Formats: sequence, structure tokens, C-alpha cells
Amino acid sequence: MSYEEQKKMVTIKIIPHSIGKLINFKISKKLLKIIIGFIIFSIMCSSIGIIIYYKHSSEYQQTIANLRHLKKKNVKLKTELAKLSKDTRKLQTKFNKLEMIDAKIKKLIKYKKFNRLANESENQTLHITNQEINLNKYGTGPNLVSGNVNSSIHNTKDRLQKLKTLFPKKKEELERLKKSAIKYKDYLASKPMGWPIKTKEKRITSDFGYRTHPVLSKRMMHDGLDIGVWYGTEVYATGAGKVVYAGRKSGYGRVVVIDHGHGFKTLYGHNRRLNVKTGAKVKRGDLIAYSGNTGRSSGPHLHYEIQVNGKPVDPLDYIKQDRH
Ligand SMILES: [Zn+2]
Repeated sequence: MSYEEQKKMVTIKIIPHSIGKLINFKISKKLLKIIIGFIIFSIMCSSIGIIIYYKHSSEYQQTIANLRHLKKKNVKLKTELAKLSKDTRKLQTKFNKLEMIDAKIKKLIKYKKFNRLANESENQTLHITNQEINLNKYGTGPNLVSGNVNSSIHNTKDRLQKLKTLFPKKKEELERLKKSAIKYKDYLASKPMGWPIKTKEKRITSDFGYRTHPVLSKRMMHDGLDIGVWYGTEVYATGAGKVVYAGRKSGYGRVVVIDHGHGFKTLYGHNRRLNVKTGAKVKRGDLIAYSGNTGRSSGPHLHYEIQVNGKPVDPLDYIKQDRH
């Protein structure tokens, strides 16, 4: 081995502590460098591996923790959704009850009969009822067992949306109902009811309808009811209204005509003296006249007449009937 070659080599000596043979390795410097380089590279790779492992491990732990948190949050949201759905159903039940009360009130105040908008409102009510049916088809709410949360959210959202549009409509309807109730109250106070006299005995001397006229002696229509009363008997208004005429009128003598609104008019004829003037406002039971025998009359009596939309009707039907 030449000196030059010797220079490229290194000797590694392993000296055992016990008695033994000295071990000599002769390797080239180049190989030694490669071995050392490999060892350093291995150590570096291991270190990076360990670092990556720990990093991933901690990320994994973090992910687990996050998942646990999300799971908790999910359960909480599901509970909240169930509650929201329950509350929505309660709200819907309340709305349906409101609708029932509404219908009862309408029946009581004869809403259809007395409200011009009744037909229109009725259609709206039907519309609302249909929407309620649609609401009901969603059944009992979210099924959290099957975990169909999306469908539950959709249903609850849908219900709430519908209720949101129904409530303002219902509010408008209730406003109309309030006006109608006031109107009905006025109707009840105005409609002619009961007797126009308060004497214990009421004697009808001539009925409503065709008869032979006691003075003219010919068969003709009698538009009212003749009640036999002595001179000066108190005559009362049978409903609230406005006196549209108080004075003398051919055939009727001293007469009072009251317009009660709602298409009703009453007439009290043959009086001796009047207690009201044209334009006066009266209530049911107000003293309006004292009976007599004025006009075309064969004896002291009160001619009591009721007109509905300008047509005379049998007063007995109104005297006898109750408030409905
Ligand atoms: Zn008469």
C-alpha cells in the first residue's frame, strides 16, 4: 500500500477492557464519512419522525376533544329544536282554539247575517282552516330518534312561517269581529221588541193583515196591530232609534215614527198627545206618546206598526219573539 493510499485510510481500534485481542478496523476515510453521514441522517429522520408523531398525536387529541364538544352541542341543539317544535305546536293549538272561539262568537252575534264582509271573511276563515290542515299534516314534530334533524328544522320552520302569516290575518278578522259585535249590540238595542204599552192586560182589537176596515167598511190591508187602550195610556218606544216624524198624519192622527236603523221602523198612531219631537233620539222603553182616538179611528186604541226595509210586518212576531 502506497503512502498516498495509506493517507486515505483510517484505523479504528477497539480496545477491550478485559484481556483480549485488540481489534483493528481499517476503513477508508470516505467510507467513514458515509457511515457518519448516514448515522447523522438517521438521527435527524428519527427526530423529525418523533416531532411529527407528537404533533399529529396532539392534533388528534384536539380533534377528539372538538368532536366531543360538537357532539354535546349537537345534543343541545337537538333538545332546543325539540322544544321549539313543541312550542310551535302549542302555538298552533292555541291558534286553533282561537279559531273555535272566533267561530262561536260569530254564531252568537250572527256575524254572517249582520256583516256585509261576512262572506268575504268566511272565505278567509276557510282559507285559514285549510292552512291549518296543512300544518297538521306534519304530525308530532321532529323525530330525534332517527336523527332526521333537517326534516324537523324544515317542518318547524314551515309551521312558524305559516303561523306568522296566519296571526296578522286573524288579528284583522278579530278587528272586524269587534266592529260586528258592536253593531250587533246596537242591533239588539234597536230592534223592535216587546209591547209598546205597559198595561197589565193587552187587548188586540184588530190583527195585522187583510180585514174589513171599521171606518171605511171595505176589505183592505191592515198594516199594523190595533191594541185597545183607553185615552192617555202611556206609549213606549220598542227599540232605540231616531224619531223621524212626530206630528199629524192623514189617517193615523197624531203619530210617532221611529227609525231604528238595520232596516226597522215603528209607527205609533191615533195618539192624543205626543211626548217627543222629530229628530229626538230614543231608547227602548222611552215614553213617546199618550194614546187616544185621533185620525181615522172608531175608538180609542193604539195602532202599532213595524216596517222591515219599508215593508209592514206582523208586529206580533216581534212582540212575542225573544232577542234572537
Ligand atoms: Zn190600525
